[in-house]
Amino acid sequence: MSLPTKEISKYDELKEQDLSHNLASLLEDKALENNIINIKRFYDRYNADRKFREQLSVDPYGACKRYNLQVDPEELRPIWDEQYIQQDSEQTSNSRALEIFNNVYLEDQVEGKFDDYLFLIKNHNYKAWRERQIARNLGQLNKSIHDSIVHAPISFELSKGCSVGCWFCGVSAPSLSDIFTYNDRNAQLWREVLQVIEEILGAETAGRGFCYWATDPLDNPDYEKFCNVFHEIFGTFPQTTTAQALKDVERTRALLKLSQEKNCELNRFSILSLSIFNKLHENFTAEELAQVNLILQNPEAIAIKADSGRSLDRKQKKVEKNPDSVEDSPQTTIACVSGFLFSMVDRSVKLISPCPANERWKDGYIIYDEGTFSDANDLKSLLERMIEKYMPTSVRYNDIIRFRHDLKYESLSNGFQVSTRYLTSKFRNQPYLKELGEIINQGDKTTREIVLLLNKFGVPEANTLYYLNMLFNKGLFDEEAQFTPISL
Ligand code: SF4
Repeated sequence: MSLPTKEISKYDELKEQDLSHNLASLLEDKALENNIINIKRFYDRYNADRKFREQLSVDPYGACKRYNLQVDPEELRPIWDEQYIQQDSEQTSNSRALEIFNNVYLEDQVEGKFDDYLFLIKNHNYKAWRERQIARNLGQLNKSIHDSIVHAPISFELSKGCSVGCWFCGVSAPSLSDIFTYNDRNAQLWREVLQVIEEILGAETAGRGFCYWATDPLDNPDYEKFCNVFHEIFGTFPQTTTAQALKDVERTRALLKLSQEKNCELNRFSILSLSIFNKLHENFTAEELAQVNLILQNPEAIAIKADSGRSLDRKQKKVEKNPDSVEDSPQTTIACVSGFLFSMVDRSVKLISPCPANERWKDGYIIYDEGTFSDANDLKSLLERMIEKYMPTSVRYNDIIRFRHDLKYESLSNGFQVSTRYLTSKFRNQPYLKELGEIINQGDKTTREIVLLLNKFGVPEANTLYYLNMLFNKGLFDEEAQFTPISL
């Protein structure tokens, strides 16, 4: 296993935190590295397999031996022993390998990831729009779910539909019906499409995208060829998430090798059953899976299903029969793109962003706009039109200003507040804020009308625009409604 850049920087952080790590010697410490990847294998088994968890609590060494896990379970008590954890939540492990595993693998899975490329986004309109989507999500999603969403700028569907057909599919993928093969015509279109995106968003931003959505990438026999061109143009090899890692083990192994050679830091395998998990461990070594996140969907796993897409459909049917039979999931979306979703089969683009799945957006993402393109020039015009229409960096005079429909508005004696179950934002202590809140809450005035109205009460235009833009940037306005672009 060669350690990826992100992990090296994590090790750097650890070193700076005076954890007595010498980076150079750490990277050369094969025994430590081996220890960490075996902890990862143990951790995956622990999370995936109820029987293993039960065995572990009565006979830790026997359980690890039975599952051929090369770890010392005593050293890993902070992972599996509830009593040990509860006795003293502050106690730290003596295991250096476990400490690094916690910092590198676990925190990477739950930490906010969306700031790590903020400074690379060169398109200011896209940057401002993405920031607003993140701010909106802060009030709409459970904090840990919010923090784990990367808000990737682009994703591509290289097939139409998905052959796997998971009952819980959070984005309601239809059955597989077509594939965007790498023939001469499509290969050229692919290259041209990526070049247009590079021109508009920049390679560093676009390189954070990936090539699947309501599809499984391995349904496309030419997936790796598309990824190679992606790498050639954007300089990064896209992350793969597949539920078909075992369909052709040699293909999967070669893809892992290819992605690692091209410095892709992480891939993900969806695990649909315990027998798939067992076969995965039979076919792939701890080292091969060291940089693969397992998304455990099997019933024996410690994991939650999102209330989104088909899973939400099923839950709603259960609730109709027996309202007390199901609990709400803290996860209400699996969407992770704030940007452009391409279907290469249909030659279509949607402008999307995550939201809690609801009646209108049952797959857990808002579709702000969509269109089709015939060639690269056409695509360029379409993307530019969407950016102009939906990604202003400030409110425009002809925009109708209203609060998001999921916000609860309340007037205060000296201002107003808007709230959701996750966040309350108060705006107070300016004489005109109470009036401003009331006007926005009516939801029928344009920016220009609000400016003129407050001006009659002596509020300068600059002050009104300052507050309107502040609220706008916090993602509090309804952007699902149509904005009409005007020149200021
Ligand atoms: S969850 Fe993934 S693999 Fe399963 S049906 Fe949906 S897109 Fe396909």
